[in-house]
Order: sequence, then structure tokens, then C-alpha cells
Amino acid sequence: MDVVFPEPLRRAIRALSALPGLGEKSATRLVLYLLSHPERAEELAVALTDLPRIKLCRECGNFTEEDLCRFCRDPSRDPTVICVVEDPASLSVIESAGVFRGRYHVLHGLLSPRDGLGPEELRLPELLMRIRKNGVREILLGLSPTAAGEATAAYLVELLREFPVRVTRLACGLALGMEVRYADPLTLKRALLCRETVKSST
Ligand SMILES: [Zn+2]
Repeated sequence: MDVVFPEPLRRAIRALSALPGLGEKSATRLVLYLLSHPERAEELAVALTDLPRIKLCRECGNFTEEDLCRFCRDPSRDPTVICVVEDPASLSVIESAGVFRGRYHVLHGLLSPRDGLGPEELRLPELLMRIRKNGVREILLGLSPTAAGEATAAYLVELLREFPVRVTRLACGLALGMEVRYADPLTLKRALLCRETVKSST
């Protein structure tokens, strides 16, 4: 049906439908919307033009416009505690919890032999260099409790064995608001193993 559209329209539809998760129908709907809202099209065009300015922080691998991201530039953040995350999106979510005051390290992936992602694809040499350079005391594994996340966590624990660092991970267990009777056995097992003390015996 796109043959009836002028070339610039068809080009915009082709470009959008080449993106993951967008078929030709949704792309057409978006382009027609933008056509009737030129101010939104303008805004989008400017935002996309600015995207190539984004690069990876040379220290932690987070997205940044400068050489160092804002967390690596912030002197009030503890450089001896590093939270290892899969990607910048995970970093952003952990940061928005507002309790972590250390630095981050973005792996840009997880170990996944099925997808051909081995240790050499992750930003591991950079992590080891930071540990040596900054006298890092703690590595917090901020990885998802998925098969790939668990495999990556296990690999990192082995890799860090020779370093004098404490390795911690995000606690896993029941989600807030979840009822115990509906929890799956694996979640419950982890919650039992990671149970926290709410009153000591004294
Ligand atoms: Zn950084």
C-alpha cells in the first residue's frame, strides 16, 4: 500500500519499520501521526540528530556526552564500591532507587553461550583494571536473577577470587506486595536462604 505515498513518506516508513519491534503497519501509523503533528516531528528529528554525540564512559561504560559519565565525575561517590550491571538501563533503574552511593561498571551484556556471548565480549578487563587501580573494596553484582545473569555472576565470583574484594549481590526473594502462598519454589528458596534478621536474640 505504500506505493501510493510520495517518496519521503515511504522513506520514513521504511526507516521506522526497520527498527526492532516496529512492523510496517505501526511505522505507517507513526509517520502519518508525525505528518499531522509537525512540531512533534521536528522535536523527534532534533533528538535523533543529537544521538551520535552519546558515547561510552571510558571508565565505567555508561552512556555519556563527556569522556567520563556523571557518576564517574562525582567526587562524592565512593570509588571503592562498584556495582556491576548488565546495561545502562539497569544502571538507571538501580540509581533511581536512590540508595547506592558507589560507582558503576556496565558489562554491556551477560554471558550467553547460546547467543555466542562469551567473557571476551563483556567489559571485564576494564573492571579488573579499575579494581587494581582504585583499591576497590566491594563489587556489588547488580545482575538479574535469570539464567544468563546467574551464569555471569558465577563467572565473576570465580574471576574475582584472587582479588582482595568483597563480592555481594542484590538480595533475591519475595517481591513487595507478593503473597507467600503464590510464590514459586525457586523464589521462596532464595528468600529463605537470604532471610534477614529483623530482631537479634539480645
Ligand atoms: Zn562512568
